[in-house]
Amino acid sequence: MPGRVVALAVVCAFAAGCSLPALAEQAPAAPAKATAPPSAGAKVAAPSANAAKVAVPPVCIEDGKPYDRAALHARLAVLGGADLEGRAPGSAGDLAARAVIEERLACLGLAPVVQPFTAQNGRATANVYGKLSGSDPDVGDEIILVAAHHDHLGVGFPGANDNASGVVALLAVAQDAAQHGASKRTIVFAVFGDEETGMTGSYFFAAHPPSDVPIGNIVQVINLDMVGSHSSRGFVAAMGTFKGFAATKLLAKLDDSYPKINVGLGGKARGSDFEPFCKQRIPYVFFWTPDARCYHQKCDTVDRIDEKAMVSIASLAGDLTRTMADSSLDLAATQRRLGCGVTYRE
Ligand SMILES: [Zn+2]
Repeated sequence: MPGRVVALAVVCAFAAGCSLPALAEQAPAAPAKATAPPSAGAKVAAPSANAAKVAVPPVCIEDGKPYDRAALHARLAVLGGADLEGRAPGSAGDLAARAVIEERLACLGLAPVVQPFTAQNGRATANVYGKLSGSDPDVGDEIILVAAHHDHLGVGFPGANDNASGVVALLAVAQDAAQHGASKRTIVFAVFGDEETGMTGSYFFAAHPPSDVPIGNIVQVINLDMVGSHSSRGFVAAMGTFKGFAATKLLAKLDDSYPKINVGLGGKARGSDFEPFCKQRIPYVFFWTPDARCYHQKCDTVDRIDEKAMVSIASLAGDLTRTMADSSLDLAATQRRLGCGVTYRE
C-alpha cells in the first residue's frame, strides 16, 4: 500500500519546529547579513584529542549500498556523538564534522570545496560542497542543490536529529548519485555552517556563490534538516511542494515505493537553508520530521533516532534528486514561471 500522502496546511517556522502553531513562536532571528570570509588571525580551534579520533575509509563509491542502515548508523554515531561536542561553529567538533564530510565527499569522487566564512559568534567556520557534473548538452549546467547544515548548539547538545541525520542522509544521496554516474543535470551537495543562528552559511553561499555553482543555474533545492524523528508525529513533511511544481508531481509518485513512511506534501516553511535560495526564486523541497520532545534539547541523542524511517526518507530524497536531475521536464521554465511559490515581504 503506497505511503499515505497527507496535505500539510500549516505554516512551519522551522527552527522552532513545526505543525503545532504553539512551536512557531520560536522562529529563528532574521537571517544574518552576508559576512566576510574569516579575517587573518581569526581563531580556529585545534582539533581536540576526541575530534582527532575520527577516521574514515579512503575509497568509498562502491563500499556498500547507499542506504545501508548499518553504514548510516555508523556515520550518525560519529556526527551526532558526544565526541563532536555539539558542533558549535568554530569549535573543534565543527572542524571534525567538516573533516568527516570532506573525506566522504572526496572518496565519493565529488571533489569537495571548502567555503570559509565568519559565524555569528565571530569564529571561523565554513560551508563544504561537492559536485557531480551533468552530462546533457542542453541542461547539463542546470543544478539540483541538495542541502543540509552540519552545525548545532555546542557542548551538551549532541544534535543527532538536528542535524546529523540530515548530513547522513545527504551523504547517502551523494553515494547513490555517484554510483549511478553523471545525470543529465548537475547535482551539488552543499553542507552549510552556522544555520542555527539564522542560516548564516547558506545566506553567505547564496550571496557569494562559488564560480562553479552559479546561482542562476540552480533550478531546485532539496533540503534535509531533521529527518530522524518520523516516529515523533508519525510523518515527514516535504514542504515547498506546491501545486504545479515539478517536484510535487514527481514526489507524489515516488512516494508509492515507501509505504512505511507518511509524507506530508504542501506546507510553507521558514527558517532553514532553503530560504536564501527561495528568496532568489529557486523552488525547494524541505524534508523535515517534527521532534516534539527533544528539539534543541540535550536529549537529541543518537539512540533516539528513528533510523528505519530516516533510511527511507534519505532514499526517497535520493530518488527525487536523481529523477529531477534526469527529468525531461523543463525545470528552468517552471522556475521562471513560478519562482519558489513563496513571496517574502522583508
Ligand atoms: Zn537544524
